[in-house]
Amino acid sequence: MAKGNICKNKSIAKEVVDGKIIQDIPEAEHNGEMFPLFTVIPPIHCSVCGSKLRPNENYDRTIISSHSIKVCPTTYWICTNEMCKKHHTDKIIGVSGTANYSDEFIKKVNCIRYGSQSPSFMHQ
Ligand SMILES: [Zn+2]
Repeated sequence: MAKGNICKNKSIAKEVVDGKIIQDIPEAEHNGEMFPLFTVIPPIHCSVCGSKLRPNENYDRTIISSHSIKVCPTTYWICTNEMCKKHHTDKIIGVSGTANYSDEFIKKVNCIRYGSQSPSFMHQ
């Protein structure tokens, strides 16, 4: 039996195109559908009162991931209900809330071992 890691993680699948290694951006689930990472999803209506939203301000969010550092143009929205006026932000696929890091990046860096402990395979 061959020993070693069998990689089944599709997120690091690579393809060679014109002699260059191309990597597809992975997808993440949102409302039961799969979207490529960094897809910007605008809010549909106010999460507080259900009224329509109108764009208030545009801004660029810079998201760090293990795939790239990506600038995502997004929109600040404001509720049209004068009594509510709640602010909303676009959702970026693969990014929790207003974080500047993608979820997979946080998962990956949380698996880094710092210090002198070596992984178990080095003792074999
Ligand atoms: Zn509202």
